[in-house]
Amino acid sequence: MENVEKRPFYLYSKPQITRNFEAYRDALEGLRSIIGYAIKANNNLKILEHLRQLGCGAVLVSGNELRLALHAGFDPARYSYMDLLMLAFRVIGKIGVTDELSVKLFAYLTQANVSMSRCIFNGNGKLLEDLVLAAQEGVFVNVDSEFDLENIVAAARIAGKKVNVLLRINPDVDPQVHPYVATGNKNSKFGIRNEKLQWFLDAVKAHPNELKLVGAHCHLGSTITKVRELVLSRNLNLIIEPGRSLIANTCCLVNRVTGVKTNGTKNFIVIDGSMAELIRPSLYGAYQHIELVSPAPTNAEVSTFDVVGPVCESADFLGKDRELPTPAERAGLVVHDAGAYCMSMASTYNLKMRPPEYWVEEDGSVAKIRHGETFEDHIRFFDGL
Ligand SMILES: *Cc1c(COP(=O)(O)O)cnc(C)c1O
Repeated sequence: MENVEKRPFYLYSKPQITRNFEAYRDALEGLRSIIGYAIKANNNLKILEHLRQLGCGAVLVSGNELRLALHAGFDPARYSYMDLLMLAFRVIGKIGVTDELSVKLFAYLTQANVSMSRCIFNGNGKLLEDLVLAAQEGVFVNVDSEFDLENIVAAARIAGKKVNVLLRINPDVDPQVHPYVATGNKNSKFGIRNEKLQWFLDAVKAHPNELKLVGAHCHLGSTITKVRELVLSRNLNLIIEPGRSLIANTCCLVNRVTGVKTNGTKNFIVIDGSMAELIRPSLYGAYQHIELVSPAPTNAEVSTFDVVGPVCESADFLGKDRELPTPAERAGLVVHDAGAYCMSMASTYNLKMRPPEYWVEEDGSVAKIRHGETFEDHIRFFDGL
């Protein structure tokens, strides 16, 4: 640690990223499919380039994510030819697939020649200017609502290009996950209601110069087995959209213990990292395993600790009620499974600047893959004002 950084940093394993990709590739063998990496989980440019080289496509939720994907060499216009429609999925858990939602849609879709883009633009609040960029670049676009459809039509006209669209269906299933991350039930802000499906099918048909329907998109928990049956039986192309499962377990946040204290009822390990670098425990009550890096002294007392940062918020914790040996000051402490929605959600709250990132390469060497932000970077926002 001393040799690498004096501040919290993210440390990834490049070979683990490769292994996670290969696990998906193996599971999808025999299916015509694209693994579309959801960039919002982790947008490090070096990681994106690596995933692109492995063969991933990109799932985007903003114009800047599209710009970054282009910068990382993802080519939305590099179509792989296919003659059938497709289905895009987000994998959450292990719920049976609801099939009835698809019947109407599949009945409508024609078996026309569709070329399959490797980039898909999602979201419930896509901006017109971002949709224009997506239209120009030939990115597939999900239709999320009535106003979204209007904006996509407008973008197609401005760009002078027909947009390939997928209908974002809300299948109304309960994935039994934290309410903040559940996206496929009927209280969710994402997707169109089943009752409105026919309206959307007609609306797409009414704009033959602007829109071409190429598939359905839904966020629901489905086992790969169920999806495999569906895709094979209907001869579909599958776009699968993993974020977390490709990247979460490839990384830890490395911190240093500032000190240990008690308030009489609770014990605290105070570290230099915080909710600014890693917010999932505070935001969703996520459990991320915590370990000391170096073995504690043999006489170290094991106690129950909350592991907290220095930020002025009671929600600033990385872990609660963890059994750990009492660490020495300056001992290293790692928070595991920090690859997804950690750095990409990091803030500069309390002016804790976003940390640097490193990865371990195949040969075991450590390389920097992103500079840490500095105070000078912050002051630059005020240059010339
Ligand atoms: C966020 C997102 C994903 C990825 O979700 P994970 O839980 O990280 O796998 C996939 N598809 C879409 C449309 C998303 O918005």
